This record gives sequence, C-alpha cells and structure tokens, in this order.
Amino acid sequence: MTGKKIPLVDLKAQYLSIKDEIHAAINKVFNSSSFIMGEEVSRFEKEYAAFCTARYCIGVASGTAALHLALLALDIGPGDEVITTPFTFIATTEAISYTGAKIVFVDIEPTTYTIDVDKLEQAISHRTKAIIPVHLYGHPANMIRIMEIARKYKLKVIEDTAQAHGAKLNGQFVGTFGDIGCFSFFPAKNLGAYGDAGAVITNNEDLAKRISILRDHGRTTKYEHEIEGFNYRLDSIQAAILKVKLKYLPQWTEARRQRANHYRKLLNDLPIYLPTESKGCYHVYHLYVVRTTERETLRTTLKQCGIKTGIHYPLPLYLQVAYRHLGYHKGDFLVSEDCARNVISLPLYPELNELHQQEIARVIGEVLSKYSAKIAVGGIVS
Ligand SMILES: *Cc1c(COP(=O)(O)O)cnc(C)c1O
Repeated sequence: MTGKKIPLVDLKAQYLSIKDEIHAAINKVFNSSSFIMGEEVSRFEKEYAAFCTARYCIGVASGTAALHLALLALDIGPGDEVITTPFTFIATTEAISYTGAKIVFVDIEPTTYTIDVDKLEQAISHRTKAIIPVHLYGHPANMIRIMEIARKYKLKVIEDTAQAHGAKLNGQFVGTFGDIGCFSFFPAKNLGAYGDAGAVITNNEDLAKRISILRDHGRTTKYEHEIEGFNYRLDSIQAAILKVKLKYLPQWTEARRQRANHYRKLLNDLPIYLPTESKGCYHVYHLYVVRTTERETLRTTLKQCGIKTGIHYPLPLYLQVAYRHLGYHKGDFLVSEDCARNVISLPLYPELNELHQQEIARVIGEVLSKYSAKIAVGGIVS
C-alpha cells in the first residue's frame, strides 16, 4: 500500500505545477479589466488554431455551446436528422435537440468505442444532414471512412473533439477532417480551464464568421445585430488560463500515453479488456477505460483500497429517461449496452506516478485472479 488515496483525476497537482504562471496570467486580465472578448481571447484562439493546424478557432462558453453553434452554422434545424452514437456524454445529443433536429443513433465499435462505420450507411435517410463522430476517451473515430460516406451522401460532419485535444489520425489532428471540430475545456478535460470553456475549429471562413457572430449576440458592431445570437462567449480569464496550459499540453499528452503504456504492461496478462490504439492513430487517453464482467466487485475493492474509479458511461443515451420519446428500446444497440455494463475508468492523469499504478494493478490482479477462469474478457461475446 502507498497509504495515499488515488483520485481518478488530480486537477490540484497540475495547478500547483504551474501556479505562478497561472496567477500572473489572471492578474494581467484583472489589470487590463478586459473581462469579455479581451485580447486574451483572440490570442488564445490564434494559438489553439495553430496547435490544431486549423485556419480558424472561435472560443466559446463550453463544449456544449460549441456543438450547438456548429449545428446552427451548418443550418441544421427542425425536420433534419443528425447521426451520432448513444455511447457518449449527453451534451453531444443535447446540442442536436437544441436546434430542433432529430437524434439518430448508430452503435459503436467495441474496440475503439467510436461510431461503427459499417453500421453508418443503414442509418442514413433522405432527412439526414450531418454526422457527429465522437472521439471518445481520446481515440480518433474512423474519419477516413466517415468522410467517404459523408461525401457520398453530401452530409456535413461535426467532430465532437471534447475528449480528444491533440489526437491524430495518420498525422492529421482530429477536428480538421470534418467541417467543424468542437472542443470542451471543462476542467477535467485534457486541456481544461478553471471553469467552463470551449472552442470551435474550422478551415471554412464562412462558417468561422457565422459562428463568431452567433456566439456574441449576432452582433457585427457593438449595437448592430445581423441575426439573433447567443451569449456563448469564452471568458478572458479562462482564455488566459488556457493559453498558459496549452504550452504544456504536448508534454501532458505524452505523460498520459506513457502511463497508458505502463498500465498495458502491468495488466496485460489479466482477464480484462484494455484500451487499443488503431493503426495510424495517436490516442490522447482522456480516460483509461477497461472492461470486465466483474466490474462491481472490482470497483468496490478498489474503493476500499482508496482508489477512485469512474464509469463512462453507465447507461446508453437512448435508455435515459430524457430520451424515452425517441422510441428506442433495450437491445437496440448491443455493443453500447455491453460497454455500459462493463466499462470502468482507472485513474489516469499526467501526474499519476508509477507506484500508484503498481498498487492499482496489484488490486486488480488480486480481484480478477479469483474469477479468471470464467470471465468473458470485456463482457462482449459477439
Ligand atoms: C465534456 C463533453 C462535452 C461537453 O462539454 P462541456 O464543456 O461540458 O459543455 C461534449 N461531448 C463530450 C463527448 C464530452 O466529453
């Protein structure tokens, strides 16, 4: 035992490592007193666009706002259908509903937890306008196939990159394959603000203009409004914080990947399904998610040992009370249901140390050795 509790994420450790820089950046905003749409916002936008190799970045209030604005900018609304997966955070589908469009689900792949491209075409109807692939846990969805299908049916593609800052496919950053990429900077995300924040990236000048007007009350000048918009702006203070943290993102991502590799070494021989990295992918491990049919026992034992875990996510969206009206049923998307039953997120953050990982692996090993003979690894028997 290390004797110390191990959290699922440790935001404080990261804050302490950059405390002086953060405080200097915040003080600068206080001194300028330019709290809304200040210089820090445009500076961060420029740097984040460069980081993602996108032409435009528009800072917004949250990842949810980013998705909502992306759909609006693409003229999606009532009568339209938008395809995504039921195994994601509800913000992905909330944004679709905000526009009045209809949510259409397609199941995920059990290896990458991203949309199953082999099941995509059968979900397309004459009303389908867009696809929202989610790069869940930081693993890129199969953007090559998705873009082929989107071109074939003339569909728009909005990438939900909320969990995938810096993730790449064949060397290209996620968020730059489709029409628009939507980032969340919720504090626990790989690039996290100290409050709510988000951003949209695009290479399309027209979309960039529409989104930047929509996020700020549709204004073209202080009191001239071309259209009705929203108060979906990125705070100057959050932009200043994000600008400091962006410098560290590549090294934090590498630290996540190194810890993921270490987990693989420690857990490889156990009857548990580990994360995979598809060919050509650069996984950024927002979460380190494993699967076991003995999840509840494992979770309880880890908790007793002071090790926090998470479940992302315990219920597919179509089985949520909020989505009863969509008319889906239990059994409709079996991979999502299996994953919802068996996934467990282990502690993973750049500051996690090797002793902690050894302790986590030791407890997992002890629990699973009791069951090893009868476990269907990962719980998916397909
Ligand atoms: C976090 C998250 C969002 C929403 O981001 P907020 O900044 O919390 O609004 C959207 N999609 C996914 C997949 C997320 O993980």
